[in-house]
Amino acid sequence: MSIEVAEDLQAQFNELNNAAFYILGEGSNTVFLEDYQGTVIKPAFMGIDLEYTETHYRLKVGAGENWHQLVLWCMQHQIYGLENLALIPGTVGAAPIQNIGAYGVEIEQFIYQVDYYDLSEQSHKSLDSQGCEFAYRDSVFKKRLADKVVITSVTFAVPKNWQAVVHYGELKELFELSAIDIFNKVVEVRQSKLPDPAKIGNAGSFFKNPIVSKDLFGKLQQTWPSIPSYPVDTDKVKIPAAWLIDQLGFKGKKIGGIGCHPKQALVLTNDGSGTGEQLLQLARTIKSAVLSEFSIVLENEVRLIGKNGPVIL
Ligand SMILES: Cc1cc2nc3c(=O)[nH]c(=O)nc-3n(C[C@H](O)[C@H](O)[C@H](O)COP(=O)(O)OP(=O)(O)OC[C@H]3O[C@@H](n4cnc5c(N)ncnc54)[C@H](O)[C@@H]3O)c2cc1C
Repeated sequence: MSIEVAEDLQAQFNELNNAAFYILGEGSNTVFLEDYQGTVIKPAFMGIDLEYTETHYRLKVGAGENWHQLVLWCMQHQIYGLENLALIPGTVGAAPIQNIGAYGVEIEQFIYQVDYYDLSEQSHKSLDSQGCEFAYRDSVFKKRLADKVVITSVTFAVPKNWQAVVHYGELKELFELSAIDIFNKVVEVRQSKLPDPAKIGNAGSFFKNPIVSKDLFGKLQQTWPSIPSYPVDTDKVKIPAAWLIDQLGFKGKKIGGIGCHPKQALVLTNDGSGTGEQLLQLARTIKSAVLSEFSIVLENEVRLIGKNGPVIL
């Protein structure tokens, strides 16, 4: 069921009569393991409204807009800041849910307000950036408000005073610091590194990068001196899940039609013949191998949906 007008939400949900439903953007962070029996709701609210404040560009964007097209639109209108997040698949409405991030930037830096329809209270509401409780690949929409709201629009505040963010990965190679150069580089690197989901089925990073205590990290360093990490706070570090999976030799391994990508260990692919059962098997095998070798519990970033709703890995 596609919903184009936010004011129609109440009537449309009343029609469901408490039957099961799943809200779907473009499905790039969702894997349907089998045929879902509930109703799929597709928020299709469109439009970009641009306002200017003294210091910021303020963009109110419909939840159904495509994320990359928004980044492109900003580049065309000389609004710079979102270029590091180019080519992330999916909708604008899903972006705050897991606080999308790439190349040293997370969307929380630019969120001014998220407008949503609260299904339990049956009213339209808003949250500012602080109210969204953003964290790494996380927000209030994955916790307290999970599956209880429909995001209708997101308002971004992009500073007019643009600052390049090039401390991450291949962006360090850039000498020319224009936003367009960063945009082009991000697109080039992403296209060369990540399988295109339109050609090879995949949902991007399957697992989140685990955040562990410095204590555990110190112990792991004794066995794995080259284990990489990024600081989180005074007590914790983040470890790339791809590195952990790679150490255990999973790259290129397959169960039926589901494989661990030969170049990017964090991406599980489907050659077209894979089943939901095979995906669960491979993901669970990786998860338990990482637990037994590193004492780290991997969490899936991707949402897994079975016949009757969410499936726990
Ligand atoms: C090749 C590839 C690369 C990727 N790279 C990155 C990356 O670099 N960084 C990153 O952060 N992510 C990345 N992802 C993950 C994905 O792009 C993001 O999670 C994106 O925000 C998902 O958007 P979507 O519209 O497809 O969401 P969906 O998969 O449709 O939905 C995701 C979740 O949001 C909910 N939802 C969607 N729309 C709404 C709405 N309007 N209201 C309420 N709930 C809603 C759904 O119920 C679901 O829980 C990648 C994915 C792929 C396939």
